[in-house]
Amino acid sequence: AETLHIIGGGMAGSEAAWQAANIGVPVVIHEMRPKVETFAHRTGDLAEMVCSNSFRSDDDEQNAVGLLHWEMRAAGGLIMAMADQHRLPAGGALAVDRDPFAASVTAALKDHPLVRIEYDEITELPADGHWIIATGPLTSEGLGNAIAAETGKDALAFFDAIAPIIYHDSIDMSRAWMQSRYDKGETEEERTAYLNCPMDRDQYEAFIDALLAADKTEFHEGETATYFDGCLPIEVMAERGRETLRFGPMKPVGLTNPHAPDVKPYAVVQLRRDNALGTLYNIVGFQTKMKYGAQTSVLKMIPGLENAQFARLGGIHRNTFLNSPTLLDDQMRLRSRSHIRFAGQITGVEGYVESAAMGLLAGRLAAAEILGQPLQGPPQDTAMGALIHHITGGAEAKTFQPMNVNFGLFRPVEGLKGGRRGRKDRYKAYTDRAKTAWSDWLSRCTLDENQTV
Ligand code: FAD
Repeated sequence: AETLHIIGGGMAGSEAAWQAANIGVPVVIHEMRPKVETFAHRTGDLAEMVCSNSFRSDDDEQNAVGLLHWEMRAAGGLIMAMADQHRLPAGGALAVDRDPFAASVTAALKDHPLVRIEYDEITELPADGHWIIATGPLTSEGLGNAIAAETGKDALAFFDAIAPIIYHDSIDMSRAWMQSRYDKGETEEERTAYLNCPMDRDQYEAFIDALLAADKTEFHEGETATYFDGCLPIEVMAERGRETLRFGPMKPVGLTNPHAPDVKPYAVVQLRRDNALGTLYNIVGFQTKMKYGAQTSVLKMIPGLENAQFARLGGIHRNTFLNSPTLLDDQMRLRSRSHIRFAGQITGVEGYVESAAMGLLAGRLAAAEILGQPLQGPPQDTAMGALIHHITGGAEAKTFQPMNVNFGLFRPVEGLKGGRRGRKDRYKAYTDRAKTAWSDWLSRCTLDENQTV
């Protein structure tokens, strides 16, 4: 079979290589470390965990990331196998002994007869052949520029500025309401595209105090801390003046609260739909460097969000990622150059587990294509399918920001109770449905036995 080249031997590249090689496709991994370093990696090993040592929840019945673990294990994933082998006690979470983990991923790939590792930095887009680019959030500058030249500058971000995302069903609609500013829009849907949370003066002042006092994360050394306008963290805006937010993302103009039509709100927090299903809403203009604990308590001060459940919290990081909804097809191929796939965090997923998962898919899809037996992507009801559907089609392209796996990406299961009370049953139903769909998909992935390799 023809060779599959993978640029980047991180979480995604390592898993992609393992999957493709196990199907019988020869693989070359091109990894720039240790020759070229990043500010976050410390070693020359593949699959290095750059920060926390956690793969998060391992609960495959009640948690979407736990479900992703389950799906990767069922697919013979290398990253999960090595994480299990080097597991540290951590309650319901999967914590990993990072150095032996990375060393054993590296050794497994080095020992694989169909895998070769070349330690070099790739700085150009390959003209032909079969390629997966999995160079991660810290893609080297040369390759980043080459990708931007192909995709256009606006379609490749070098930072993420993430506003928190909230489950719609956890928002108190007896306090919030749907309305676009000045009722703008051609259709009823556009005129009610935003969800509004009103504040009176006391609530606003208390909110500003809490923002100023909140614990914040500092930028890493080597991570440029220059913010660009339109992307300032809310706490930095508040530091510039107590009224700045009220004249910025929290301005109260053009909105009427139907719960109290005679009272003009002093400030309004707006949320915008984040996915086609309408299950997730992001807080407009609320990118933040507050620590996670501080974020949840400060944001719950917003009227209507007292019981908010967060699908993901906000952050600002150095992160190279594509506007995948416009650039990638459902096979993770670059629409403009279909011999190149992307995988891992650069596709707009976030986290070790999600990145490895997208590597697993890209590896399988590429290998199947090379062997002349193209494979359809996994069903949307699986965690893998929900994620890939989100990044290649379900997310709003205009406001696309990296995403963790979460149940808000799943299609609702019919006939179950909504709200908080039904949550446990709902999550169990999602994970049951996903496991069946994933097992079916895997059984369809088996290649013809007489396929020559
Ligand atoms: P990586 O694992 O980064 O792998 C990409 C590989 O490509 C690297 O080995 C790199 O050396 C190589 N490479 C880059 N450019 C080139 C090139 N031109 N040629 C050849 N090789 C190249 N996720 C979490 O789940 N938990 C955390 O706590 C966490 N903390 C993070 C902290 C920081 C500072 C950063 C930057 C990211 C963090 N992440 C965290 C995200 C995490 O890095 C990713 O989710 C995950 O590692 C991404 O996997 P990946 O395979 O896409 O990229």
